[in-house]
Amino acid sequence: MFAEIVVNAPLSRRRVPYLNRTEGFAALAQTFTYSIPAHLAEQLQAGQLVTVPFGARKLQGIVMALADETTVERVKDVYEIVDVVPVLSRAQLELARWLSAYYFAPLIECVLQMFPPGLEADTRTMIALNPDAPRLVNPKQLHVQLVERLRERPLPLDELLRDVRKRETQQAIDALVRRRVLLRQTELLPPRAKEKHERIVRLIAEPSEEVLAALHAPRQLAVLQYLQQRGGLNVVVSARELTRATGASTSTLRALADANFMRSEQRTVWRDPLADLDVPPTEPPTLTDEQHGVWEAIRELLTKDGGRRTAASTSTSVFHLPSAALLFGVTGSGKTEIYLRAVAEVLAQGRQSIVLVPEIALTPQTIWRFAERFPNRLALLHSQLSMGERYDQWRRIRAGEIDVVIGSRSAIFAPLPNLGLIVLDEEHEASYKQDKSPRYHAREVALEYARLTNAMVILGSATPSLETMWKARRGEYRLLELRERIETAGDGRQTADSRPRPIVHHPPSALSRPPSAVEIVDMRAELKAGNTSIFSRALRDGLAQTLAAGEQAILFLNRRGAATFVMCRDCGYVLRCRRCDNPLTYHSDQDDLVCHYCNRRYAQPPHCPNCWSRRIKHFGAGTQKVEELVRQLFPQARALRWDRDVTTAKGAHARLLKKFVAHEADILIGTQMIAKGLDLPLVTLVGVVSADTSLHLPDFRASERTFQLLTQVAGRAGRSRLAGNVIFQTYSPTHPAIVAAAQHDYDAFYENEIQFRAALNYPPLSRLLRLLFVGRGEARARAEAVALHRQLHERIRQLGASDLELIGPAPCFVHKMRGEYRWHVIVKGAEPHELLRDFVLPLGWRVDVDPMDLL
Ligand code: ADP
Ligand code: ZN
Ligand code: ZN
Repeated sequence: MFAEIVVNAPLSRRRVPYLNRTEGFAALAQTFTYSIPAHLAEQLQAGQLVTVPFGARKLQGIVMALADETTVERVKDVYEIVDVVPVLSRAQLELARWLSAYYFAPLIECVLQMFPPGLEADTRTMIALNPDAPRLVNPKQLHVQLVERLRERPLPLDELLRDVRKRETQQAIDALVRRRVLLRQTELLPPRAKEKHERIVRLIAEPSEEVLAALHAPRQLAVLQYLQQRGGLNVVVSARELTRATGASTSTLRALADANFMRSEQRTVWRDPLADLDVPPTEPPTLTDEQHGVWEAIRELLTKDGGRRTAASTSTSVFHLPSAALLFGVTGSGKTEIYLRAVAEVLAQGRQSIVLVPEIALTPQTIWRFAERFPNRLALLHSQLSMGERYDQWRRIRAGEIDVVIGSRSAIFAPLPNLGLIVLDEEHEASYKQDKSPRYHAREVALEYARLTNAMVILGSATPSLETMWKARRGEYRLLELRERIETAGDGRQTADSRPRPIVHHPPSALSRPPSAVEIVDMRAELKAGNTSIFSRALRDGLAQTLAAGEQAILFLNRRGAATFVMCRDCGYVLRCRRCDNPLTYHSDQDDLVCHYCNRRYAQPPHCPNCWSRRIKHFGAGTQKVEELVRQLFPQARALRWDRDVTTAKGAHARLLKKFVAHEADILIGTQMIAKGLDLPLVTLVGVVSADTSLHLPDFRASERTFQLLTQVAGRAGRSRLAGNVIFQTYSPTHPAIVAAAQHDYDAFYENEIQFRAALNYPPLSRLLRLLFVGRGEARARAEAVALHRQLHERIRQLGASDLELIGPAPCFVHKMRGEYRWHVIVKGAEPHELLRDFVLPLGWRVDVDPMDLL
């Protein structure tokens, strides 16, 4: 028997692993063949984590497949099985292969995405004495010392370097390695995450009255009585609890165990982030008519395949489209309620669900609603969990103890044994795309994973991505719509509190709420009228009225400091970062300039470096500038600023929001983060200070992004019984994305935008591959890009793939970042993947399949 194993070689840490000038993309999926020694033959299975010899090293690997024979000569034996329970399921192994092929990513990287955190062991460098070492001639003292230290056994490099003469030691080691006296080797470190255990105690014999009376040790008596009180034979009590309650020591417990009254054992404890949430379970509300229609359709999709679900192991032969639905409904139209029902239905079929949300910190309400409905068997996966917590969650999920996994992007890889449903809420969000290799999009992964496991996918959004709506309209997904908002209690009961009170469901009103009115203010006209302020008259008046009425307002900026560049009024010179070439942003709190790519700070110069004029000033409005202006205009108002500057600390989001919800502030000023999923009933005015900030970026999705953001913002107001007003300030008042967002008209936006995409053959009508070069030296980056472009061009000619189009080579919009230059070449066409099959991409290049932006 032989095993095909993908090896976790430290090589994979590099940007383009396994890729050299002779191998090409085929090498990405490389596995190695090993023989299976007799003592492992019984146990070895696909998906297991094993250790194998690899050159002179011992490395971890995953068994991708077993085979009866091999053409490879002189194979080596697998060393050992790290964990007999497979780390990856069959479906996940398939998924990893698909990820690798579709995203041109090394198979090992794809496999590691599905690894439990912490199980993936790191390697460390060891220094060993070469047994066949040549003799040292005239050795230096340090060399002799090193050889002496290593005579017993090899030592980790960092341990050797823990020395006052660190530099000299490093040099000595290098020299000795060069002379083959020492060997540099790699060794696996044990996994960092360990299970947590606790000692538990249970009675094995119910002590009789006589026995108790005969006991002369009062502490032992106390323990036995305590255990009887807690339920006698049936109850398991932790040793910690026992000692705390009775004052017994460990030796007391040992004595009782020796006398066969009780048994004590180690038990795994799960570190559960939801453990101390006390959520009262709630009953689902009656669906509205509209919801009912949608639910019927989804239930049909869920039950159609439910009965005859094929086992994941045979999935290679099952190729059918996933059953997928797009749930298109404005915020507050009851989509989450539909997700909850679908999860419950799947659960009733004995299957499990994954629910993906774009950013977990911003969706406490969603998590609460799932916790209310599925109190005990819910797992939360997100980046702020400790390693131990994540490891435990992963193990519980794999063990089938969890029915619903909620998490951000990477939760798609949760190892649920019998997956029935994947929900992607806010499917259009850019955070579903991973920006390092493998550069996967969780939606595409979900669809593939669902196909492999015969699960269903529900994509939900108020502003679906063009890709998703296009496919839905073509019938690839079932298109389901919720057009009406559901009226809730409207008294602020739904709060952003991290421990909200249980939500009481009121019967939904028959009337849907009219969307809030959006006013588009033409800032060019303001300027003509002599108003040079960043606040239009309409916005200023609106704020005054809102404050006078004791209500709340939100002022929204597209991006932190996007417009606060520093420009010379005389010559137009813009101050830029010397490393990144990125316009600098003025920060008034320290009166200095900051680069938002590399975070370097600069002093504000007194003169223009170009023309020596003194009239060099910051322009536009960042959140700080807006805050200052608010304080100036409305000194009595309490303003709160929310952006990445003030919310990097853990829990800062929640605290700020809590403050605002409690009406401890009147005006909230922030970037797009505040546009996300929160219900703020006292907010009656939302002002978008500059609706154009993202509109003029050199990216084909700029309109789509702007439309999505503005629609989301417009949805902030009018969520309560109070009437809502939204003001968009813009220099492009007739732009279709802005007009459509103001009119809450997705369809109008879609029609217009899809024509633009079709005219230029952009996605969803085509596919893109972005090839990005990042490296030092402007000239080199350009030369690389020009050369690659020429190569690709030639290849298109060879393949006769005349439908493939190359864009570039060009410097990226973000041309320089952290001292490195960025150039790209973009491939556009129906099947751009073909171009890169068996292609050898030079070092320094990255591939981004279906890129989310081209900046
Ligand atoms: P979405 O996910 O589309 O934003 P939600 O599912 O969160 O919408 O619904 C909006 C509000 O309406 C929530 O407070 C939810 O509890 C409530 N709700 C949803 N469906 C019903 C229903 N059928 N009856 C009563 N309240 C409902
Ligand atoms: Zn100047
Ligand atoms: Zn910089």
